[in-house]
Amino acid sequence: MRRKFVAGNWKMHGSLAENQVLLDALNRGIANLGQIDCAVCVPYPYLFQAQNILHDSSLSWGAQNLSQHAKGAFTGEISATMLKDFGCHYVLVGHSERRSLYGEDSVLVAQKFKAAQASNLIPILCVGETLAQREQGVTEAVVSEQLDAVVLLCGVEAYSRAVVAYEPVWAIGTGKTASPQQAQEVHQFIRRKLAARAATVAEQLRILYGGSVKAANSNELFTMPDIDGGLIGGASLDAEEFLKICSSAH
Ligand code: PEP
Repeated sequence: MRRKFVAGNWKMHGSLAENQVLLDALNRGIANLGQIDCAVCVPYPYLFQAQNILHDSSLSWGAQNLSQHAKGAFTGEISATMLKDFGCHYVLVGHSERRSLYGEDSVLVAQKFKAAQASNLIPILCVGETLAQREQGVTEAVVSEQLDAVVLLCGVEAYSRAVVAYEPVWAIGTGKTASPQQAQEVHQFIRRKLAARAATVAEQLRILYGGSVKAANSNELFTMPDIDGGLIGGASLDAEEFLKICSSAH
C-alpha cells in the first residue's frame, strides 16, 4: 500500500514575513491530518527559516533544484550536501520550468537525480509533455525519454528512493487540469513501463499528479488507482487551500 504524498512547490514566491504566517498555519493544520506525507519545496534562501519553524513538525521541506556537482567552482550553484545541511528531505528535479526556461535536458536532470540520491535526498522527478506533444500523440514517448535517462544513469532500482511527478506542461499554472482519466492513463503507463524492468519498485513508487490542482479537484484526482498524491504549485501558497488538498489525499 503506497502512502499518499502531497508536496507544495512555492516556486519564486515568499518573503520572511509571508512564510512565517504560511508555515505557522501549515504547522498547526498538518498535525490533524494523519496518515499522509506532506512537504513544501521552498526557495533556497528560506530553507533555514523552514528548518527553524518545521523541525518538530510532520511537514517536511525541500528545495526546488540542485547542482549536479558535489562541490567546486560553480558560481551561484547549490549542492545536495548544502541542502542536507538545512534538513531537506526532498528536492525537485526536472521541473518543466527548469527544462523549458533553463535548458535542462533529461541527461542533466538524471545527473541531478543522482547527485540528490548520493546525499540521501529524495528526488521528485518531474516529467510531462507540452500541449503540442500531446496533440501530436507523443506523450508516452516524451515521458519515456524522461524516465529512461534516469534508468540509464542510475539503474531502475534508483526509483525505489524517489518520487515521480507527472505534470503535463499545459496544465501547470494555466488553470487547466488534466481530467482524472487523462492523468490516470499516463500514471498507469509510467508504472507499467517501470514494472517491465522492476515490478516491486514500480508497485511501491509514488507517482504524484501536478498541474492546477486545487481543493475543488484534488479528491477526484487522488482517488484514481495510480495517482498517489499531488505536486501543488499556486495552491500551495494558501494554507487553507493546501491543507484541504492534503486532507483530500488522506
Ligand atoms: C508546479 O509548479 O509544479 C505546478 C503544478 O503548478 P500549479 O499547481 O500552479 O499548476
